Amino acid sequence: MTPLRVLVIDDDDVDREKLRRLLGKTQIDREIVVEEAASEEVALSLTSSRPFDVVFLDYRLGASRGTEVVPRIKARQAGPCAVVMITGFGDERVAVEAMRTGVFDYLSKGALDARKLASTIEGCRRWAALESDLAEAHERLVKLSMFDSLTGLPNRNLYFDRLEQARLLAGRGGPPFAVLMIDLNGFKAINDNFGHHHGDQLLAEVGRRLQSIARKSDTYARLGGDEFAALLPGTDTLHGAAIVADKITQALRQPVDIDGNLVILGAAIGIALYPDHGETASRLLSNADRAMYSAKRRGSTFGSYAAAGEPGQTREAMLLSRLPDAIARSELFLDYQPLIQLDTGAVVGVEALARWRSPLFGVVPPSDFIPPAESSPVIKPMTFQILAMALDQVRRWLDEGRRLPVSVNISVRLFDDEELIERVISELAARSLSPDLLTLEITETALIASPGRMRDIIRRLRHAGVGISIDDFGTGYTSLKYLREFDITEIKVDRTFVSGLTADGRDCSIVRSIAALSQGFGIQLVAEGIEDERTCGLLRDLGCKVGQGFAISRPGNPAEITRWIDARSAAASLSVSVSIAS
Ligand code: C2E
Ligand code: CA
Ligand code: CA
Repeated sequence: MTPLRVLVIDDDDVDREKLRRLLGKTQIDREIVVEEAASEEVALSLTSSRPFDVVFLDYRLGASRGTEVVPRIKARQAGPCAVVMITGFGDERVAVEAMRTGVFDYLSKGALDARKLASTIEGCRRWAALESDLAEAHERLVKLSMFDSLTGLPNRNLYFDRLEQARLLAGRGGPPFAVLMIDLNGFKAINDNFGHHHGDQLLAEVGRRLQSIARKSDTYARLGGDEFAALLPGTDTLHGAAIVADKITQALRQPVDIDGNLVILGAAIGIALYPDHGETASRLLSNADRAMYSAKRRGSTFGSYAAAGEPGQTREAMLLSRLPDAIARSELFLDYQPLIQLDTGAVVGVEALARWRSPLFGVVPPSDFIPPAESSPVIKPMTFQILAMALDQVRRWLDEGRRLPVSVNISVRLFDDEELIERVISELAARSLSPDLLTLEITETALIASPGRMRDIIRRLRHAGVGISIDDFGTGYTSLKYLREFDITEIKVDRTFVSGLTADGRDCSIVRSIAALSQGFGIQLVAEGIEDERTCGLLRDLGCKVGQGFAISRPGNPAEITRWIDARSAAASLSVSVSIAS
């Protein structure tokens, strides 16, 4: 146990010696080490050089009064130091007064004994313990008011304070600086999918990573939620700030393990420079904020208030980097949209439409992740997985007594692939499905790209019994006559022709001639993107047999589509029995 350090300050040698002897007899749970000072000078020099737990101070010390000496001693002690005033006869009243100046207790010289000293020392120690608890609590409070408890980074208060300091300094010839606003992408999805506890862990990790790249003069702060900010003194060009933004992006991009799931973090970063992009702290930050949101909208990792756009990783690239994992984790799923016979209303099939439920980005529509996937090898496993899922569903429907042929979209890039044909045939066989339950949709641009090879592949697929549909017809350059050379089964006239359809418009004559020609060639014509009843009627009149669109049914999950079909056939049989009865 560490000994108790005591200092006796008294200019009377006899009194000092007496107190020392008494302290020698005083019984406490540890050793008492006593030092002596015969003058204030010696006392101040001793208290400056080392800590004391208890100081016994004579009220009458040379020319000074004890009350004046107390604050000088306390000022020299870093930790809690209990001062006990020793009073002579008649000084008690002043001593009580002295307690207000920070004296812990007083003892009168006449009544000193070892037991009394022991209990006073005990009191001193309790006080000291309390005092250091208080100091600790105070420190915690200060920290709390300036630092974020989750990440340990400076909080909004301290950030604004430092920003203001940097601004004042720059105004007096100090260095210019940059501020960065950093907003995590998809953090809400992480909170929603993994819970707040994991969300907090992730924020703490972000704090660690920001700290790890920060230079000593930089301030990285958490402003709240998933919003962080940096203050970079001396960074005075966009180029310099962009380098830091890139460093941040790289640091965040290292995968984080959340509950066994590897998550890659993205962030949007907005840059503003002082004084070019704002002369006050709030203007500067709101401009950095605006730059951040504009970067976010563009799918860019960072942007500056001034620049229209800075190079950086796009949202596309971010999605693409996550896709292989998404496939492995079965994060892709399919919605289905019914195709109906426009005159009878009978359901003739469904189109499978891919979606991606990402823990990071939420539900991602195909228009966001298919185009980047098409320029990467990932398109192959992705398409094969989609094909398998669609055929699984067709099998389930068949087992329930529903015959629902499915159309699967195949990217141009993959249509060219030898493996596709084998895969299609083997997946159908594996589920004992008749090939006419499957139609492959391919855009017309694919046909023009390498017509000879396409003709061959389509012929082989047709030979296997699979249907071939030309999607988005009318947006490419193919003429219908040209189409005759390919053994296709269906044409889907693009929704741009369908949505603007009026009885006497230009689109109307185009659709009419497509309908006439396709009928001549024995190719089924599908109108997609039918959004209202009126268009439905018009298309029927123009000779278009099959339709698909929001007015008929939106894409839905298998359960929704099954319910929709059942409700329809119930209504149909009701109207049949009514017409029979009447
Ligand atoms: P698409 O093949 O032309 O698919 C039809 C799209 O039109 C779907 O959008 C569908 O939800 C939407 N749609 C249906 N009815 C209407 C309507 O009445 N009005 C309007 N405005 N839109 C309607 P989605 O699901 O977002 O798919 C977009 C595109 O993504 C698809 O266009 C297709 O090119 C591609 N895609 C979807 N799934 C796959 C897939 O599994 N593989 C490949 N390679 N591409 C896919
Ligand atoms: Ca399609
Ligand atoms: Ca289409």
